[in-house]
Amino acid sequence: MLTAISRYGARVLPNTEKLVAACKARGEFIQGAQIAEFEDAFARRAGGGIAVTAAYGRMAFYYMLKALDLPRGSEIIFPSLTFWVVPELAKVAGLAVVFADVDPKTFTIDPASVERVITEKTRVIVPTHLYGLSCDMDKVEAIAARHNLVVIEDCAHALGATFKGRAVGTFGSGALFSFQTLKPLNCYGGGAALLQDRALAAKVRAGVDALPWPSEKRVTDRLLMGRLQRIFIKPWVFSISLFPVLWIAAWIDANPDVFLWEKIRSLEPLPESYAERFPNVQATIGLEALKHLDEWTSRARAHAESMNRVLSATPGVQVPVVPSGCSHVYYQYCVYGPERVDRDELVVRCVRRGVDIETLHVDVPPDMELFAGAVAEATGARRASQAIQIPVYSSLTDEQVARVATVVRDVLAESSSRA
Ligand SMILES: *Cc1c(COP(=O)(O)O)cnc(C)c1O
Repeated sequence: MLTAISRYGARVLPNTEKLVAACKARGEFIQGAQIAEFEDAFARRAGGGIAVTAAYGRMAFYYMLKALDLPRGSEIIFPSLTFWVVPELAKVAGLAVVFADVDPKTFTIDPASVERVITEKTRVIVPTHLYGLSCDMDKVEAIAARHNLVVIEDCAHALGATFKGRAVGTFGSGALFSFQTLKPLNCYGGGAALLQDRALAAKVRAGVDALPWPSEKRVTDRLLMGRLQRIFIKPWVFSISLFPVLWIAAWIDANPDVFLWEKIRSLEPLPESYAERFPNVQATIGLEALKHLDEWTSRARAHAESMNRVLSATPGVQVPVVPSGCSHVYYQYCVYGPERVDRDELVVRCVRRGVDIETLHVDVPPDMELFAGAVAEATGARRASQAIQIPVYSSLTDEQVARVATVVRDVLAESSSRA
């Protein structure tokens, strides 16, 4: 039987269950010394600063905004291609969100567009190192200095990426990282703020320390959920579970949304599970995962390079652009197909051949009702949302990557000759 290749692959430790059992046995499932240990190890690995863990990456961001103590209605600039929850939490924190465009070549924020949307009310800019590629931090820092803005980097995709040799997350006053199942460092949820300023770090810490601990049941359920996601996206299970749904949909013209997605909704008031602390068992998993991070990153990079070798020789295809001075960790690998080829058609043809590829991993918030009325430039973001995302994640074998590359190349060639 032909196994299907999933669009997602989580980074999973071989000994997760053992680590969990050991925490339970020690009576340190929720509280324990590994939280501080993980924060220190994480900060060192991320390039320096002070790390503060939280229930989500988005909540680390929220507490950083709260710690800045800005006047209500201050403006905060996001790229118009990002995960919708981040600007939504800025709204919950009382700020007015504004969107600057992205460069469709790199998928990261366009400094010229940032300049155009700055007003005298602008206080914060959030460069998102989307898909694992650093923004042009020279330009972002220059703009921030000129207009006296606070920089908070969104590093949810980019742990390990650098700009001119320096780690992303160390440029701004603060940065957020996510430890969700599919992110570069998988702790089955959670996130961290990385802060370069002691006083700001102390305020973020005070915000998080005031929160209650999660219940044991909540954390157990979360680990179980992570385990299910993990099982469901293993190639062989994927081929007998979720994949048939996508496969059938590819023939009957349906459009099932992936079950992993969060419902788009206002987050005011904050859901109960958001205002909790990061538990010891997840910190323990994070500590162990940090030891594997470099190996995982280099595998994803090697896969991306194999994909580049095949696809850059395919007419009409634009493989990921990595500007000089930037390094890419390939959380996602995004290409543009030939102009005249219908993108959805292309995805359907890949699915029929057992390769599940994705069209858009994040959102164009200016086009969502949730952000109606926000000042926005989004032409580049709309163009960027036409790219396709091809699996290169670290748990794929070299043979699987070769198969993905061949399928995508053949489907592209076929589609261009018909277009
Ligand atoms: C995943 C993600 C986050 C934050 O993730 P949490 O689910 O809150 O941990 C932030 N920004 C981007 C771009 C993301 O993809």
